[in-house]
Amino acid sequence: MRGDDDRSVGPGARYALLVLAAPDVRQPSRAEVERAKIELDRRLGPSKVLTGAEACATYAADDSDVDGRAPDAVVIAASVDDIATTLEVAQSCEVPVTPRAGGTGRTGGAVPVAGGIVLATHRLGSIKDIDRENLVAVVEPGVITGELHAAVEREGLFYGPDPNSLESCMIGGNLAENAGGPRAFKYGVTRDWVLGLRACVMGGGVLSVGRRTTKGVTGYDVTALLVGSEGTLAVFAEATLRLAPKPPAVATALALFRDVHAAARAVTAIIAAGVVPRCLEMLDAATLSAVRAAGVAVDARAGAMLLIEVDGDASEAALLRVGEIASRGDGSVDVVVAQDGAQRDRLWAARRMLSKATRKLARHKLSEDVVVPRARIPELLARTDEIGAATGVGHLTYGHAGDGNLHVNFLWNDDAERPAVERAIGMLMRSTVELGGTLSGEHGIGVSKAPYLPLEQSGELIALQRNIKRVFDPKGLLNPGKIFAGGRHGSC
Ligand SMILES: Cc1cc2nc3c(=O)[nH]c(=O)nc-3n(C[C@H](O)[C@H](O)[C@H](O)COP(=O)(O)OP(=O)(O)OC[C@H]3O[C@@H](n4cnc5c(N)ncnc54)[C@H](O)[C@@H]3O)c2cc1C
Repeated sequence: MRGDDDRSVGPGARYALLVLAAPDVRQPSRAEVERAKIELDRRLGPSKVLTGAEACATYAADDSDVDGRAPDAVVIAASVDDIATTLEVAQSCEVPVTPRAGGTGRTGGAVPVAGGIVLATHRLGSIKDIDRENLVAVVEPGVITGELHAAVEREGLFYGPDPNSLESCMIGGNLAENAGGPRAFKYGVTRDWVLGLRACVMGGGVLSVGRRTTKGVTGYDVTALLVGSEGTLAVFAEATLRLAPKPPAVATALALFRDVHAAARAVTAIIAAGVVPRCLEMLDAATLSAVRAAGVAVDARAGAMLLIEVDGDASEAALLRVGEIASRGDGSVDVVVAQDGAQRDRLWAARRMLSKATRKLARHKLSEDVVVPRARIPELLARTDEIGAATGVGHLTYGHAGDGNLHVNFLWNDDAERPAVERAIGMLMRSTVELGGTLSGEHGIGVSKAPYLPLEQSGELIALQRNIKRVFDPKGLLNPGKIFAGGRHGSC
């Protein structure tokens, strides 16, 4: 819902502020819920259906602080039939159903906003096939992403998407959010690695979409539509994923800079030189302070850092070239190259603990994942400073600078600061769109960003997407309140 409060921050910048409302979602009646519980119990057996209040409450949240309503029942699916049966019961009893995998989502996607059924897919955790000849893996939605990496790498193969939550997020959630990660700059996001899907739809149908072959253009690309649909169109039971040969070598370096603007200039220079690192991660001064506070020694002169990784046959030469470019710019402090695998792992451990380390800086932290065209990163950083100054909300920024996808984090301690945080988020979203960017690079819209969707997309486009949703889910029961509905922004 759009508010009426307009405010200027910085020369020429106008920001419309948003007044947020709770998702407008129909709650099921007690009788509908009871009927669904009886049906689920009868058809799946009590061992797969949790109905105790305490057990259900543990499925009410994800890694955002979006407030949901605890589910009335949780189905622990152990087969494609269990998923299909649950969707059949949900449809016939008119009870909402929320799919769930690892529960690490940051926009409330797996949070049930109207109670009903949570359909947990974490027990479907088998890697059914790794086909070396055809470079294909067939996996269930409950496979932990990091375990898939380890399994294919043991075979000399490679799966590109590497969300920083890879030790606990699952393929089902990655498919639904079209997850990315540090390697997305070179290797793309989840959608780029999905060949085909088995997906269950409301009413209990099972669709096989896509293919197992590398090429294929038969019919509409329904696979691409379902990936990134945030659990609102169908529930994944199996995915056929593309693999690649494991890159023969990887080289990693840290480049330190006086400030983020010098780091952003280095990013542009590296890419302009024709080098394609697989990762180009940026950390600003406030983030570096959190890293230091967590016990990692970082040169005191540094006010920004790039974590750079290149792979392939000529990785060492490419890294030398990148290091040379990074160190010749104005504002360069130092370049440190990892000498071996252990040093490399330590650098990545520091990157992957950022979320936890920065969370300690304040009682509340909210991590946005906006994207701007790479060349406009310096403008986004300047806007972020303006927003912080105008609202008084603390902030820090890190993320995937290679593809312009930055995690702008807002930090606050006192609940009374919440309205200022909402203003800061609205300003950030509007700035992102004004800079030619997009609201989410990898976390999805979920509940949190739904109020801001009209900033980026026209009414016609939103109506078209709602119509597509209606084709898959005529009664609006599959993951209601996500993507299109209004909702309070939750911290994560
Ligand atoms: C520390 C940390 C770091 C992170 N780093 C990254 C990162 O680098 N890149 C990135 O992209 N994300 C990142 N995330 C966000 C999150 O991990 C991803 O969005 C991830 O893809 C969610 O997977 P999950 O298994 O936890 O899904 P969940 O949180 O369980 O669900 C996410 C969405 O998927 C839907 N869903 C789940 N299972 C199914 C299914 N079987 N069928 C249909 N829909 C389903 C849910 O309804 C929900 O809408 C990070 C999160 C944390 C906490």
